[in-house]
Amino acid sequence: MTDNSQANDSPLRRVQQRIASASEQAGRGQDSVALLAVSKTRPAADLRHLAAQGQRCFGENYLQEALEKITALADLELEWHFIGPLQSNKTRPIAEHFAWVHSVDRLKIARRLSEQRPAQLPPLQICLQVNISAEPSKSGVSLAELPALAAQVTALPRLQLRGLMAIPAPCEDPAQRHRPFRTLRQALEQLNEQGMALDTLSMGMSADLEAAIAEGATMVRIGTALFGPRQYT
Ligand SMILES: *Cc1c(COP(=O)(O)O)cnc(C)c1O
Repeated sequence: MTDNSQANDSPLRRVQQRIASASEQAGRGQDSVALLAVSKTRPAADLRHLAAQGQRCFGENYLQEALEKITALADLELEWHFIGPLQSNKTRPIAEHFAWVHSVDRLKIARRLSEQRPAQLPPLQICLQVNISAEPSKSGVSLAELPALAAQVTALPRLQLRGLMAIPAPCEDPAQRHRPFRTLRQALEQLNEQGMALDTLSMGMSADLEAAIAEGATMVRIGTALFGPRQYT
């Protein structure tokens, strides 16, 4: 078998190409958008394969599964991002094993993460998840409640609030895809006008990374385009 992991047409290279051309079209610099590889449901070997091609940041949604991979890949210098639903009885291992959490949407969770962040580690990097499409069933803080939550999280000693994250409702019409991303960027700009210094917009997935980058995404979260379709068992 030949190892073509370095091939120009590997999924990682193709995603990097999409990011590069979207950034260029938006008049943004080469390194203005970070790639988070979303590896939920993928075996550790798939992550190792991607890491061998230079990918360093991985996003996981499910705690138990993530902890197994963090252990299995401890020999690599990877940066782990928790992007899934948060339960308050499971915050401790997240505070102990992750560098970033993108899905904070209430103060109770933020307080626990701050209290449980080990003293020898740098502050936990936080994005607040915003329910940008105002879907009643979805997690995320509302735009109305965002400023208060952002102020409260900023005050917590072991967290560093970096920005906002959103998962817009799926949208068939490419022309409509920009709107929720623009709304999220404007929300970030408003917080910064009120004195915050947030630098991260975690938005854009396999189907819509171009629209997200056009609207200012600084981190895209990509699963399917890197690993193929997910198979849930
Ligand atoms: C699964 C997931 C992704 C990746 O989605 P793809 O469409 O597979 O790229 C991104 N963000 C979150 C929060 C996810 O749960």
